[in-house]
Amino acid sequence: MAIHTIKGRNEPQAKTTEHESIANVADFDIPELQRTLKLAGLLQTSLEIESILQYFVDSVRETIQFGGIQYEFASMDLDIKIGKLERHSCAYRLRIASDGLGELKFTRNKRFSESEMEQLENFIFHLVYPLRNAIQYQKALISAQMDSLTGVNNRASMDRCLDREVELSHRHDNNLSLLIVDIDHFKQVNDSLGHSAGDTVLKTLVTCIKETMRVSDMLFRYGGEEFALVLSGTDMDGARQVGERIRAAVQAYPFVYNGKELDLSVSIGAAFLGRRDSATRLFNKADAALYQAKKAGRNQVHSYAER
Ligand code: GH3
Ligand code: MG
Ligand code: MG
Repeated sequence: MAIHTIKGRNEPQAKTTEHESIANVADFDIPELQRTLKLAGLLQTSLEIESILQYFVDSVRETIQFGGIQYEFASMDLDIKIGKLERHSCAYRLRIASDGLGELKFTRNKRFSESEMEQLENFIFHLVYPLRNAIQYQKALISAQMDSLTGVNNRASMDRCLDREVELSHRHDNNLSLLIVDIDHFKQVNDSLGHSAGDTVLKTLVTCIKETMRVSDMLFRYGGEEFALVLSGTDMDGARQVGERIRAAVQAYPFVYNGKELDLSVSIGAAFLGRRDSATRLFNKADAALYQAKKAGRNQVHSYAER
């Protein structure tokens, strides 16, 4: 399968001779021009990658028949299929300057002719900039809710998630628990081995917790060396078990820095959402339980006891 590379039109590689740019109004195919303008306008109405591709597919279908498209962009884990994928395909690698934008494939049950491929290229020229904008927007959204050191979601994201989960749990009468995980004597790691050792420990801790938690649990870094796990559908007993599993896993995990293994432990506070608890109340309960775990000697799980 041949893959064609489509680049943004204002790039040096794009060929535009003076001769081509001086055109008579009579040279234009008016319906074609109207379709192109409509497509260009439509593609700018959204910053959702899937919607942009859907508009694009609908517009191209007015001119060229095909079964479906597949858009793949590995660096953002995107694999979007619209319509039916069929035997014959025509693929385009999309890029603007040095920005790779993934690969777009049209498929159908008979070969694409040369003139159809030329038309497809023309359509794609209108797609690349709106697609690039949407990709940049989605990347900005992701990085705004992510902690850049560890790659897990940050505090702002936790606040939103906790509000939503608390509301859903109350509405559907579901269990909800929260764990707060805090590294013991973390300041000593920084003080004795340096900040970069501390950073390595934070990243390793995230790896260790992720290996231990269920996929449905949600992990956040909400402070320097403090992490929160939102456990939906989990009662107090379940939360205690998850907490204990994480505590034991951290203690057994090889935290290695500069070839040296560090002894590391965490203390964990666990709380269960009560009938009238707000997100803040749930958080404060887990925090109070964490305080008890620290006070009792660290490297342990404490749960909040309702009075
Ligand atoms: P405790 O057992 O009571 O929790 O003691 P601790 O030393 O873990 O707690 P303390 O709150 O005294 O210290 C937390 C330390 O975390 C202090 C701060 O320098 C460090 N820290 C916070 N954010 C980062 C970070 O992003 N990287 C590194 N390396 N250190 C951080
Ligand atoms: Mg702390
Ligand atoms: Mg600490």
